[in-house]
This record gives sequence, structure tokens and C-alpha cells, in this order.
Amino acid sequence: MKTIKNLITSICVLLLLCSNTYAQETETVTLITNASIFDGISEDLVTGQDILIKNNIIEQIGEKIKAPKGAKLIDAAGRVMTPGFIAMHEHLMLQMSAPELLTSDTRYYAYRATETVHTYLMNGYTTTRDVSGNTFGLKKAIDQGHILGPRIYPSGPMISQSGGHSDHRMPSMSSQLVGGIWDPLTRYGDMAVVDGVPEMLKAVRENLRQGASQIKLALGGGTGSYSDPLEVVEFLPEEVKAAVQAAEDFGTYVTVHCYNNQGVKRAIDNGVRCVEHGQLMNEETLQLMKDKDIWLSPQVIVFTFIPKGYTEDQANKHRQAYAGIDNMFTIAKKIGFDNIVFGSDIITDPSMIVRMNEEFKHRSKWFSPVEILRQATSKGGELLAMSGPKNPYPKKLGVIEVGAYADLLLINGNPLEDITILTNATDNIALIMKDGKVYKNIIN
Ligand SMILES: [Zn+2]
Repeated sequence: MKTIKNLITSICVLLLLCSNTYAQETETVTLITNASIFDGISEDLVTGQDILIKNNIIEQIGEKIKAPKGAKLIDAAGRVMTPGFIAMHEHLMLQMSAPELLTSDTRYYAYRATETVHTYLMNGYTTTRDVSGNTFGLKKAIDQGHILGPRIYPSGPMISQSGGHSDHRMPSMSSQLVGGIWDPLTRYGDMAVVDGVPEMLKAVRENLRQGASQIKLALGGGTGSYSDPLEVVEFLPEEVKAAVQAAEDFGTYVTVHCYNNQGVKRAIDNGVRCVEHGQLMNEETLQLMKDKDIWLSPQVIVFTFIPKGYTEDQANKHRQAYAGIDNMFTIAKKIGFDNIVFGSDIITDPSMIVRMNEEFKHRSKWFSPVEILRQATSKGGELLAMSGPKNPYPKKLGVIEVGAYADLLLINGNPLEDITILTNATDNIALIMKDGKVYKNIIN
């Protein structure tokens, strides 16, 4: 008996030793010296800072940190360091023309998505929130290191009602009541269409089961769908309430696609925590969002071009949405609403993903550089943290502080003085680190 006990103890010690050896072998330490830090919040740069990174976490920040033995050294030479950017309204699976999206097979989607996520990372985005698309496998492949790309907070398929913003069946297709089939986006899990509380609950819970970190619903008409003008309201209050309850029971939140005022009000009244777009709402509604601490996730760049394959009707809705942006941001500035995050909503066009940092420039019509940089870093991080136990990356994102994930950029030039330098990521983003690993370095 004693021998068996001894044997078990020896095996346990051996296993412990092995796991320690493994941990030591895989530990990476990097010291970045002499950076001028924008921490994601403060408008003043802190110059002459060293940042010590152990594995994927920021371990220490300060002046003249002694390099641990074996540490990799990077001299920032006074460059501005920012947190990695966070893009909060992205469609990583949907970067093909509308006809291609509706005719390609899922593996082709996946191959194309690998190119999309690489572009995001090379533009400085270390985290994205996907707000409609079957990105579960893509996220897993990135997390495991098979594909280079940003972290992904997946919503899974956006959920709408029949004839709503997720419904991409042509108007000529047969009704479901007589056995009509779904369009490929629905069949492939990039969109979901439901009616009534039981179907809503099923869809929300299926998304959560697959790994959604938040739930996205459509509460009003959209530019890319066929049947719904921007003014229409989608989902009954009880359907929205059921989705919110199911999400909250899993500790996370619901965000909604909606442009029009009535839909946004319905969202607020039923417990939704974030509104995507929102540019047709009025001051009273935005004030209500401010009072209730609700988030706004707007975009500009997607409305500066007509997505590939849009019909004239869709293009007109797109122009209508663009026209509302100025009013929304003007009201936001007037009432001091700043629960605003960054994102692009680019669909159907990989060449626009390459240019997505133009979103920084577009926003400078209404916001100062530091306000825009906060939107693209700490504000996004705050909203992502609302995923609670469903948060796939539970440490801090969007800030440079001890204990946060080591998602860091070094910039040539000072974006707090000239935000437009970020539109040229190739030349002006000198270093991209995600999770403590360097993916681009043109410093040395
Ligand atoms: Zn969108």
C-alpha cells in the first residue's frame, strides 16, 4: 500500500515538475523602453516610460525598469504608445459583394475571412466585436494561433423578425408559411430570423450556447435588407424583453441595430444596453440614453460609399442613414453624451477594410483627437467588459495599465495632435503587439 502511495506521490511530483518546466520554457518577457504613453483615457502623454510585459500581461510601467534576464528589448525611442484599437461594429465574415455572399459556400467565406482579420490586425485593431456573422470558428482559429487576427467578441447571427434586417430572402421567394427556404446567410448562421417569444428565446440561447459574448437584435429597418424602410420598428416589446432577460440570465447584454427614434426608445424601455447606428433618433432619446448609461456604437465610413451589389432602393436608404449622422453627433456633443465607441460597419468590400482607419479622420469633424482615441480604446474596453461571465478575454482591454492585456501600438507621430496620421497604418503604426506577441515591427 505504502509503495503505491509513494508511486502516486512520485508521479504527482514529476507531473508538477514537468508543468513547471513547460511554464518556464514558454514564458516570454519583453521590455519596451522610452515610450510616450497615451493610456486610453488621459489626454496628457506620459513620456520616458518603460513597459515590462510578461507573457500576455502588462507587468510593470515606470521609468528606468531594469531588464530581467533574457527579456526581449524594444526601444520605442520616444514614440507614442497607445492601447491596441478596438473596433466594435464589424462583420468579419461578410466582406464579399452581396451577390457573392448569397451564392458562395461556407468554406469560401472562411478563407476570405482570414484575409479580412489579417487586415484588421495590420491596421492596429487588436480587438473586434463582430455584430452579425458566424465567427465562432474564426475566433477559435485566431485564439489558437492558426490565423493572424484580432481578438473577437462574437455576437453570432444577428436576430431579426421575418421581413426584418436579418432577412435576406428576395421579396419574390416563397413564404415560410408554404415551405419557402431561407437565404444562405441564415442557413450558414450569419443571420437568424425569428417570430414570437419562444423562437426569440431559442435563438438567443443557441447563440449563447455557441459562444456569443453578447446578443445583437435588429429593432428597425436597415440599408442592406430588402423589405424594411429605415423608419419601421421591428420586434414587439415582449420579444425584446425576452431576449434581454435570456441574455442577462447569462450575465451579458443585448445591443440593437436601429436607426429610427421609435425603435431606439423601444430598446431602451426594454432593457437594451447598447444601440448600433442610431442616427435618426432625436435629442430627447439620446438624453434618455445618457440618463440610463446606455452605449452608442455609431459609424461613419460605411456610409461614405455604397456597398457592392446594393440595389437603388438600398443605396437610397444608405444615403438617408448618412444624412442623419451630423445631427446625432451634434446633439451628442451638445448634451455631453460620451458613451460612444469606435467601429466601421464595413460590409461587402475588403478594399474598404484596408482603408478603415479613415474612420478616425471622419470623426474629427465632431470630436477632438483624444475623444476619438478614447472611443477606439478605453470606451470599447468598458463596453466589452459588460459581457460578464461570457467575456472571452476577462482582463482589461483598451487601456495601458498594470494587469491589462499587452495589446499595444507604437505610432510614428502624435495622433493626439494629428489624428489623420492613423489613416496610414503601413507607415505610421510602427509596432503592433497583441497578447504580448509582436505582429509588426518596423522600428529596428
Ligand atoms: Zn452592421
